[in-house]
Amino acid sequence: MGILYDQAPLKDKVERALSDDFKHHAIETAQDVITQKRQALVDQVENWEDFREKAAEIRNHVLENLDYYVKQFAQNAEAAGCTMHYAPTAEDAIDTILDIFDELGETSCVKSKSMMTEEIGLNERLEEHGIHPIETDCAENIIQTAGDAPSHIVVPALHFDRNAIRDLYRERKGYTGTNDPEEITHFLRTMLRSEFMNAHVGITGCNFGVAETGSCTLVSNEGNARMASTIPETQIIVMGIERIVPDLRSLDVMMELLVRSAVGAKITSSFSLNTGPAKPGEVDGPKTVHIVMVNNGRTNILASKYRPMLRCIRCGACMNTCPVYRHITGHGYGSIYPGPMGIVLTPLLVGYSKAEKLPYACTLCGACSDVCPVKIPLHDLILKHRIDMVRLGYTPAVESSLFTAGAKVFSNRLLYEIATTVGAPGTQILTGNSGHIDSGSVWIPVLNGWTYSRDLDVMKHKKFRTQLAEYQKQKQNRHQDQEDA
Ligand code: SF4
Repeated sequence: MGILYDQAPLKDKVERALSDDFKHHAIETAQDVITQKRQALVDQVENWEDFREKAAEIRNHVLENLDYYVKQFAQNAEAAGCTMHYAPTAEDAIDTILDIFDELGETSCVKSKSMMTEEIGLNERLEEHGIHPIETDCAENIIQTAGDAPSHIVVPALHFDRNAIRDLYRERKGYTGTNDPEEITHFLRTMLRSEFMNAHVGITGCNFGVAETGSCTLVSNEGNARMASTIPETQIIVMGIERIVPDLRSLDVMMELLVRSAVGAKITSSFSLNTGPAKPGEVDGPKTVHIVMVNNGRTNILASKYRPMLRCIRCGACMNTCPVYRHITGHGYGSIYPGPMGIVLTPLLVGYSKAEKLPYACTLCGACSDVCPVKIPLHDLILKHRIDMVRLGYTPAVESSLFTAGAKVFSNRLLYEIATTVGAPGTQILTGNSGHIDSGSVWIPVLNGWTYSRDLDVMKHKKFRTQLAEYQKQKQNRHQDQEDA
């Protein structure tokens, strides 16, 4: 994708996504399957809520003491033989990685899935410098081969089906087989295996850095991350500075939650805990390990009211449950971080001027906050964004004026009475005798944003207050009659 956020108008991106029936249907099915699997496994854990509480506590503790844990992690990783790099910005991270390639004189590498490298647009920048990264995760390889953007942070090719994948590899990689997943996987495995065997550099992400040991964890279902971190002589690990847990005991809690929340499984096929380069006598493992810790705005988030967002462990559960994601799909958001977590994180990374209306792509239903394994109050943070956007003047003038006028009316009894009295005949004029304002109201500016896909009932002539007063009067009369009798 090359950029963290596609700045086309949100409306255009959403309309494009909505008009793609195939993608839309694929996401609906995937959401249902993943959610059911997750729920079944969550139900097996009696004290699931205690786990969530504990995980949030661990993540909060790390964030409150981030300087301490970054230092401890770096010291222990260095003691294990890693070379540490600290990158304040995405550009710094890219420069650091390019320097490593320059020094090695290498022009290609194998890569396992990493959201941090997506965030900094690493692949495109490597290509610009003549370095060819090969994505080895099946889904990432599909996305890379198609030149497409991921639509989910855990299952990036969620919007492809087996026919689309078969056609893609036929067209671009000379695949001659059927749409059978096993056959396609076999083709991919053969293709990637030779890449692994010839690679001198492997780039991976890091699910969690363990401060007490200086280890980096890799969680995958295909074993490709393990190969990318053990076969090449040089491994480059790219991680966000916040992805640290204090110790192995805390890692245990996080893993319990991560895998269940992400893919609805008890455990993944591969879990690696890598501590430095291979030691003398060890058969597998790189000779050199570079760890690039990327800040890219995280310390600003840390110092803000949005700090809870840094607890995120990138499990994707919030998007799997989100009704908006279900309809507009990952691509509707235009960010490499879609869904509720993306709505919170993207504006923090790119700013409101670029993230435009993204915080409004949410119903504030709160389903995401209910499933988040580290208890991030996502819908609260989204609301905070909206408040900040209004405060900083990012809302259109018409909208601001309307809401300012609305606030005045609702906070003044006399104005409220007048508005509700004239409101009924006013809306009647707009609707004729239909009783509601429907999609035929496209000519009414501002209002049509709401009535485009929903009907808006007219205001009733008899106001609620009048009805209540009448009811109370009748009740009082009945009471009086009973007493008189
Ligand atoms: S915000 Fe919570 S649910 Fe969403 S990806 Fe992050 S940890 Fe998972």
